[in-house]
Amino acid sequence: MDAIATKHVFAFEEGDGKDKKLLGGKGANLCEMTQIGLNVPPGFVISTAACLEYLDSAERQLPDGVMDEIRTQMQALEAKTGKGFGNPDEPLLVSVRSGSAMSMPGMMDTILNLGLNSETLQGEIRHSGDPRFGYDAYRRFIQLFGKVALGVPDELFDAEFAAVKQNAEVKEDLGLSASDLEEICGRFLKVVEEHTGKPFPEDPYVQLEIAVKAVFNSWMGKRAVDYRKQFNITQDMANGTAVNVQTMVFGNRGDDSATGVAFTRNPGTGENKLFGEYLVNAQGEDVVAGIRTPNSIDRLAAEMPQMAEELAELRAKLETHYKEIQDFEFTIERGRLFCLQTRNGKMNAQAMVRTSVEMVREGLITKEQALLRIQPELLEQMLFPRLDPSHRADPVAQGLPASPGAAYGIAVFDADRAEQMGKDLGQKVILVREETKPEDIHGFFASQGILTARGGKTSHAAVVARSMGKPCVAGAEGIAVDVARREAYVGDTSFREGDVITIDGTTGKVYLGEIPTVEPDFTNELNVLLGWADGVAKLKVMANSDTPDEARKALKYGAVGIGLARTERMFNDVERLPIVIEMIVADSPEQRQAALDKLLPLQRKDFRELFEVMSPRPVTIRLLDPPIHEFLPDEHQLERDLSELHQLAATTRGMAVLAGSMGLIHASDHARHDVDVMRRMVDPALVEEAIAKKQTMLRKVRALYETNPMLGHRGVRLGITFPEIYQMQIRAILEAAADCSKMGIEVHPQIKVPQVCTVQELLKVKVFVDTIHEEIKQRYGHPVSFKFGTMIEVVRACMRAESLAEEAEFFSFGTNDLTQAAFSFSREDAENKFLPLYNNSGILQDNPFEVLDVKGVGKLMQLAVEWGKSVRPDIHVGICGEHGGHPASIAFCQLAGLDYVSCSGPRVPVARLAAAHAALKDAA
Ligand code: ADP
Ligand code: MG
Ligand code: MG
Repeated sequence: MDAIATKHVFAFEEGDGKDKKLLGGKGANLCEMTQIGLNVPPGFVISTAACLEYLDSAERQLPDGVMDEIRTQMQALEAKTGKGFGNPDEPLLVSVRSGSAMSMPGMMDTILNLGLNSETLQGEIRHSGDPRFGYDAYRRFIQLFGKVALGVPDELFDAEFAAVKQNAEVKEDLGLSASDLEEICGRFLKVVEEHTGKPFPEDPYVQLEIAVKAVFNSWMGKRAVDYRKQFNITQDMANGTAVNVQTMVFGNRGDDSATGVAFTRNPGTGENKLFGEYLVNAQGEDVVAGIRTPNSIDRLAAEMPQMAEELAELRAKLETHYKEIQDFEFTIERGRLFCLQTRNGKMNAQAMVRTSVEMVREGLITKEQALLRIQPELLEQMLFPRLDPSHRADPVAQGLPASPGAAYGIAVFDADRAEQMGKDLGQKVILVREETKPEDIHGFFASQGILTARGGKTSHAAVVARSMGKPCVAGAEGIAVDVARREAYVGDTSFREGDVITIDGTTGKVYLGEIPTVEPDFTNELNVLLGWADGVAKLKVMANSDTPDEARKALKYGAVGIGLARTERMFNDVERLPIVIEMIVADSPEQRQAALDKLLPLQRKDFRELFEVMSPRPVTIRLLDPPIHEFLPDEHQLERDLSELHQLAATTRGMAVLAGSMGLIHASDHARHDVDVMRRMVDPALVEEAIAKKQTMLRKVRALYETNPMLGHRGVRLGITFPEIYQMQIRAILEAAADCSKMGIEVHPQIKVPQVCTVQELLKVKVFVDTIHEEIKQRYGHPVSFKFGTMIEVVRACMRAESLAEEAEFFSFGTNDLTQAAFSFSREDAENKFLPLYNNSGILQDNPFEVLDVKGVGKLMQLAVEWGKSVRPDIHVGICGEHGGHPASIAFCQLAGLDYVSCSGPRVPVARLAAAHAALKDAA
């Protein structure tokens, strides 16, 4: 060690209030409060560095010199207070409090009234003239010290306490007399001696050293270690605890004393008014422990008007200094107000937003500070319905929080019933499925929310529900669904079709019965705040919206355009699916064209509506992307249907044979009639026709079968092999745009080609576009203004960005597919099989499908942006994968030089705030 020992102990007057790492949050704030002139009981901090050295030492010894520093500080305290540590005439008592850089409520320990022993107790009683108070303080100290520092179980003390209370026949602690409390002290001392084999330490300095070590030890206690693990508190964020030694003040010195906790503003609503509770004649821990019911702080003005005024001043000083809502502890000792702790208040989203806006208006903080103090994710609370916070129900099952928001409704087990009950009968419905498939889509539309027993956060149910902004709980494995019996089993209970259930997609919990929900409120203040966000953000925020309804919502959330409209959702509509199937199973180009001719006006209408809603903002439409067999029925279902139809055909043939035999057997007229009726009931020709249709379908399904559809015949590959499909879509887009222009509606369509890996693909599609545009220009007499661009979601597309930029006016990163491609992970398999292990064992820090993999996928993006811009400097670049709505990914998009992010509508506000954060942090 150096000759000059490091300083480990700091008086509140000298510690650096900004150094929470060294002094802990509580200690740093006690220093800062002291230095700005608040009435803080004097004391000092022993640093976290001392804690770490202590924990590292072989014998758990305090670092050299620390006890000397403590003695020096104690002497200074004696000088300040005019009392003496261990002095029987006028004893100085202190608290020993823990506190690390991160607040870990209830995880570590505090000891009050340290310095009491058989002698100083008598001094304290003489000095206060209040024996009851003296014994009360003593018994609290013995118990706390016994528990925290000596490891004596609480129950041993509680049992003695209860016994005395019973003998004295009192119910409330306050009813105990001085001699009752004296008896309790005696019994407590005996408990300690019996349990530890040693008498309770009398020397105050011995008490202090043991207490300091105990607080240090609590940092590595199981409770604290588990807590840090649970909340991902790394050593970087908090390493070791500090110890605060502070002169005791007493809220239990009579009716002119009190103790309480308060927030400078209401943490539930943000209202600019002191909020809190207090207890007269009590010590701090009584408020927390709930031994008596505290009063609302509103009553203080009537009970102690002078104190209420001083508290109002304290509140103002705290806010002016910290420029943040404070959560603080105070104690009143005989008409004097002390502040014992302060920290930034934790609030819900509504309160955060309201206080941000109001503090700017009060001139307390700048707009930038107002934006930065709110974590973007927090806004989610305000954008989705929540369960009424006062509900008390216990969940029956836990699934994955797959799409946020809460909803209740009657359980329904298939999509058709959901549509019937939800759409036709107007009931609130929760669609409950083992898992969902594309053909369930109409059930989604008719439901309040979706619950599945299988599948992850990226299952069909989860992805579709998120895109619709509907709550979804996925993979609730405790639920077994029996569709045939219209019943689901959970543990030893069950619910049937028609029973009401509630799901919370924000937490993944499922409840039986109806739990009321609280509607989200897009408050005025939120609009103001997001307006400020837009003012500083560089990235624009667009929405992924497929329908006019979703587009309207996205506008309300502040989207400046549509960055991704998926056309497959339009194909999946119940009325259209048969036409789509007709198109797929067509045997000749003519037949296919006939089906496409039916689809064209429908698509044109889709696009026109989107353009009208979004006018004059850009609407980016992606040409058909998924493998085409996704629109066809399931192969095994077809096989089952066919085998049943074949049986039916055999039956009808049998009936014909039977009818022909009627002449041979002497049947009654009645029997002849019956056979005739039965024969006519099923027409063999009809059955044959059905068989033929299903066989064609089955042949097509088998012909289109792919081993690996996600890497197969999809996206632009489909557009090139079946040019009629893309041509129809391009025509629908351009005609819709031309129609709008004719009506005076300003439109900015953008045509986006998926899955491109070479410019040759883009060129092919470009020829379709140019030809169709030329023809429309002739027909309408004016050109349509539009942009042509490409998705970047294939690794080769990143590598060929220069060449693609020759043809593409914009790049749109599809980071879902690009992540799959970059890792060669199939998403569903990865998430179900090995990713959890990879994450838990630290091989991969995050799930790259949730958190953009900046190092790999991000690198590809950066290269593509750089190369694209080198060829076309004004190329417009954005992201439209799910990452587009995640704050950390948005920060990266800013660094990578993107122009916009696009995410699902309800995440747009989160993204707007995140874009502002990204810009502010980038500028800093
Ligand atoms: P926690 O972090 O669990 O809140 P604290 O260190 O804040 O623990 O202390 C617990 C209780 O004891 C609080 O109510 C606090 O106000 C009270 N307390 C701590 N030190 C003193 C003191 N010197 N005088 C009076 N009360 C104190
Ligand atoms: Mg506290
Ligand atoms: Mg894709």
